[in-house]
Amino acid sequence: MPFKATDYLPYDFANRRHIGPSPDEMGDMLKLLGTGSLDALIDETVPDEIRRKEPLVWERAKSEREVLYHMRRTAEKNKVLHSLIGQGYHGTVTPPAIQRNILENPAWYTAYTPYQPEISQGRLEALLNFQTMVCDLTGLEIANASLLDESTACAEAMTMAQRVAKSKSKAFFIDENCHPQNIAVMRTRAEPLDIELVIGDPEADLDATAVFGAIFQYPGTYGHLRDFTDQISALHDAKAIGVIAADPLSLTLLKEPGAMGADIAVGSTQRFGVPEGYGGPHAAYMATKEAYKRAMPGRLVGVSIDARGNRAYRLALQTREQHIRREKATSNVCTAQALLAVMASMYAVFHGPDGLRAIAQRIHRKTVRMAEGLESMGLKVEPETFFDTITVEVGHLQSVIMQSGVQHGLNFRKVGDTKIGITLDERVRPETIEAVWQSFGLTRTDEDFTPRYRVPQSMVRTSDFLTHPVFHMNRAEQEMTRYMRRLADRDLALDRAMIPLGSCTMKLNSAAEMMPVTWSEFSLIHPFAPADQTEGYKELIDDLSDKLCQITGYDAISMQPNSGAQGEYAGLLTIRAYHKANGDDHRNICLIPTSAHGTNPASAQMVGYKVVVVNSAENGDIDVEDFRNKAEAAGDNLAACMITYPSTHGVFEATVTEVCQITHDFGGQVYMDGANMNAMVGVSQPGKIGGDVSHLNLHKTFCIPHGGGGPGMGPIGVKSHLIPHLSGHLDDDSGSGAVSAAPFGSPSLLPISWAYCLMMGGEGLTQATKVAILSANYIAKRLEGAFDVLYKGPNGRVAHECIIDTRPLKDSAGVTVDDVAKRLIDCGFHAPTMSFPVPGTLMIEPTESETKAELDRFCDAMLAIYAEAKDIEEGRIDRENNPLKNAPHTVEDLVGDWDRPYTREQACYPPGAFRVDKYWSPVNRVDNAYGDRNLICACPPMESYQDAAE
Ligand SMILES: *Cc1c(COP(=O)(O)O)cnc(C)c1O
Repeated sequence: MPFKATDYLPYDFANRRHIGPSPDEMGDMLKLLGTGSLDALIDETVPDEIRRKEPLVWERAKSEREVLYHMRRTAEKNKVLHSLIGQGYHGTVTPPAIQRNILENPAWYTAYTPYQPEISQGRLEALLNFQTMVCDLTGLEIANASLLDESTACAEAMTMAQRVAKSKSKAFFIDENCHPQNIAVMRTRAEPLDIELVIGDPEADLDATAVFGAIFQYPGTYGHLRDFTDQISALHDAKAIGVIAADPLSLTLLKEPGAMGADIAVGSTQRFGVPEGYGGPHAAYMATKEAYKRAMPGRLVGVSIDARGNRAYRLALQTREQHIRREKATSNVCTAQALLAVMASMYAVFHGPDGLRAIAQRIHRKTVRMAEGLESMGLKVEPETFFDTITVEVGHLQSVIMQSGVQHGLNFRKVGDTKIGITLDERVRPETIEAVWQSFGLTRTDEDFTPRYRVPQSMVRTSDFLTHPVFHMNRAEQEMTRYMRRLADRDLALDRAMIPLGSCTMKLNSAAEMMPVTWSEFSLIHPFAPADQTEGYKELIDDLSDKLCQITGYDAISMQPNSGAQGEYAGLLTIRAYHKANGDDHRNICLIPTSAHGTNPASAQMVGYKVVVVNSAENGDIDVEDFRNKAEAAGDNLAACMITYPSTHGVFEATVTEVCQITHDFGGQVYMDGANMNAMVGVSQPGKIGGDVSHLNLHKTFCIPHGGGGPGMGPIGVKSHLIPHLSGHLDDDSGSGAVSAAPFGSPSLLPISWAYCLMMGGEGLTQATKVAILSANYIAKRLEGAFDVLYKGPNGRVAHECIIDTRPLKDSAGVTVDDVAKRLIDCGFHAPTMSFPVPGTLMIEPTESETKAELDRFCDAMLAIYAEAKDIEEGRIDRENNPLKNAPHTVEDLVGDWDRPYTREQACYPPGAFRVDKYWSPVNRVDNAYGDRNLICACPPMESYQDAAE
């Protein structure tokens, strides 16, 4: 056949980047479904009432090169100055080895949250290193594997203090030297929970007997070094809790929070190699005493053993997660900052304790030099002793010197009306200090001063830290590279296989979308940099917001929430503020269906709402009668409902408009959880079918990678009546108050979602939605007969995901959903979402990104697993000793004697598994119960690594 060039659209122009199945493959898939066209399938799937009438269109889709060019032009509108603003954000040097091998490596950034521990051993080890690092630096016993940012970590510490304190006071003390954004977020968090805040000077204003806890910033936001030992001891006498928000780098030189008796320490690990990014993402940390470990929010990595008794890591105490605790949840943290925690931990591995101390000492010495230079001019520098931050009294010259700083390429911090704050960092060079002086009108050279230490002797750290061998390995880059490679190789991420996680949309994170993230114009911007330096970001945020409005049918977007759960919280706060403005303070009941994601009831709790659970009908839809009855019972007290669309049962419910109408009839507002937006873009709009507010998980639908459990972005869209009540930030305290440390959450992720929208265009995005629905229906059809799909729409179709039932296998063959999940590992797959929202089921979401070949490989694997269960059921193989119960199989299983009633071939090469490129699980099945009984959440001694290797 003659070659016709026109048969082949260049991949760049045909959305072949994001849409897996080729047109021919789609034809085959539609044939299996017995449907003539993609549009016909959508007509059968999406109820007419909720269909979008006009197509989603904006400017022509851009090619990859066009987008990168456009992004460059936009990036150039940001001005990269050296920000010495401090206030919790610092210049840092990302070691290139970490940038290239972690941040820019899909093996790390495309991984999912490590719920399946066997295929997550690499990132679990890196996160355990993070926890060990945090414990050591803070001098506390147990640490979690990251929170969203320092400010929310402070707020989490406040509510945790209330849970664990024996003091019954309703008040919490905040050191006035806390960073302003920390105070703002705690203020927002405290109000609905009726926590009374006392903000003041810890020495003068703290009455320990009148509070359940207190938080202190260390070093203070203006640089003060204070020892809080006495205050904490007074708090303990009053059965209250002491919290310290500490800069971890300063702790390499300064007395650690544990040594002051602190019960909880929080902070940001941003300056451990993670650029400012105009506010994020960065990993916050929390550490506490052993006694309080069960009250700690966030994810905790622990050490356990596998079926052979070998050491294995997994998430510990998972029953604390909001997925399980729901209305009893104490925090809504789900997506956190795993990738950034991994980067920070590698930074510590890379530098080791001596390297970190040297970095801190260099910063301190430079700060002293800088201060002495300014003092030599007769300027008043405060405080007397400091780590890296000083303030200078300049009187009426404040704005002149700030301007002069900008002319010298530096941003200073405006403190009050007469002072200037300056914070130095790892990127400061002698020329930087000279430029600081020049901004003040002093011309000296850096060599003119021989600094003395300005840390008081009593505040010098005397204890060791990072003693574990992992922080002492030979850090030649060769070895470091191999360490990061070894860990990555243990994990199964999207760069190896489909991750068909229902509700969590694991789709392509394309290389072109990722590239701008590390451009300095996006990454080296301080969140409080002057507006005229961030015009590129403004353009990006405005245009992306505009596109998200067009997609969702909402009137405005707030980019502040940095996860889906934070979006829920921000959205509910907006609703609450709206009711309050209408004089409806009493409205406090929130209706939530049983099938809701666990973060929904958790977020409702956080705004002080009472959760009333609504039943599901037989077919999985919300039970409308039950809903109506409960709305009626709530009456004037109905605040909101939280529903997910399409539902977490994987169906477009036709009754959604009715449910919204009932809510509105009783004066409530509709929170429509937008995590499933990948089924709606271009096809239906939450803002047009009854939603008043929704969050979007940009790390699901809009291509921000999952990073092994974060970062994420959860912006919310609202209808116009809610706009005045959206979250404000520091310079704008209207609305419902700050919910994140930075005004735009984690803005350095936004280029990813923006590039996605620009490259796809409205049409491409709509096509992606349709293909996502096609792929889910294709899988449901192929598995028919082996696994029943639990819920379907009226025409027998599912939305972009489907829940399949494995419970019959339990009854007939004793095969659990766990067995199926672990056997999938042998086949080279990450398991679908397990037991959510229905126990004993798998929720499969293939997304539009997977080719038909990959969908088929998955279906073949599932059908083979079904056949194995049949073999058990029909007595052809033992009920206990079989490939399902023994899964996953490791190389360890193959060496030595083989005494199993099935072959090695069957064990290791089931359908789906690649022959040459086989993914080998590094451990056998992990024993979760053992790990929780013997809780260890820091790196075990190195000898045990030797044992494991032998
Ligand atoms: C993922 C998800 C959330 C929570 O989002 P995070 O970003 O993990 O906080 C909420 N609701 C649903 C339905 C989800 O799938």
